[in-house]
Amino acid sequence: MENEVFDILILGGGVAGITASVYAKRRNKKVAIVEEMLIGGQLASINEIENFPSYDKVTGFELMQNFQKQVKYNKIPVFSDVVEKVDFSKDIKVIFGKRNKFFAKSVIIATGLTYKKLGKNEDEFLGRGVSYCAICDANFYKNQEVAVVSKKGSGILGALQLADVCKKVYFLDSEDMTIYAKACPKKNIEVISNVEIINILGEGKVNEVEFKVNDNVEKLKLSALFIELGKRPLTDIYKGVLKLDDNGYIVTNEKMETSVKGVFACGDIRAGVLKQLVSACADGAIAGQFA
Ligand SMILES: Cc1cc2nc3c(=O)[nH]c(=O)nc-3n(C[C@H](O)[C@H](O)[C@H](O)COP(=O)(O)OP(=O)(O)OC[C@H]3O[C@@H](n4cnc5c(N)ncnc54)[C@H](O)[C@@H]3O)c2cc1C
Repeated sequence: MENEVFDILILGGGVAGITASVYAKRRNKKVAIVEEMLIGGQLASINEIENFPSYDKVTGFELMQNFQKQVKYNKIPVFSDVVEKVDFSKDIKVIFGKRNKFFAKSVIIATGLTYKKLGKNEDEFLGRGVSYCAICDANFYKNQEVAVVSKKGSGILGALQLADVCKKVYFLDSEDMTIYAKACPKKNIEVISNVEIINILGEGKVNEVEFKVNDNVEKLKLSALFIELGKRPLTDIYKGVLKLDDNGYIVTNEKMETSVKGVFACGDIRAGVLKQLVSACADGAIAGQFA
């Protein structure tokens, strides 16, 4: 493989990367995916999905299996490796993985993003009351009481989304949010300022959150805790190489072309307005078509 040159090399095997690979393959391109973990990406951490076309409801696992089958059906090679460095300076791009070096005429970056963690015991309850995505999971808590964990207002949009669906939304911010509390347009949002989360409690699923506020320890009964501390695109290796926006997302045009010729980006990693499965697939289709 050392001297093999791919027409299109796709970095990341989430739904954006997979869709790109299928479109590229159907154009008879020599294509491959480099993936560090599982084909399917974030699908692996989604409990239930209610907004993927053609399904009323589907688990992340089931959808992930479908995507894996499609990669196999299209005979798209998948290299298990971690992309650590890139050299996009020449016509033939060089991608340095932890184990292998790859060469390609075009590269599609689809390595997604990571959600900022609370750093408490949230992993124990992921998909069982802990969520990082209000837009994805609000509907599972219809008419229930939930809380948003926020830092300097990072959870405002998430709280508004939840307030349309849930009975009550506690907005737990680490800073003083008195001004927001006065201006908040939704009556079912209760803002609590200067909160430090101590622990998430429950038997198998979230039942309570314990937190410190003004030196008092308090508890709230709730069905879900939405951790809305922000997202971080995995773009450190592209700093100074590709044009990134102020939040570190890769800037592309409508064809998913980045600031470097022959390099494309799609899905959660690019500066798009929606970070969802369908938008990642749509981006991937465009990248796979134009790369
Ligand atoms: C808990 C949760 C629930 C969600 N619920 C929904 C929902 O109900 N509906 C909806 O539409 N969306 C939902 N989303 C959002 C949706 O999952 C994402 O928008 C979508 O999966 C993004 O796809 P992607 O291919 O861009 O990125 P990802 O799925 O993140 O794929 C990126 C891939 O790149 C790989 N990778 C990263 N870095 C490297 C590297 N250096 N080298 C090699 N490989 C690398 C990763 O392992 C991963 O497989 C949810 C997300 C989460 C976390």
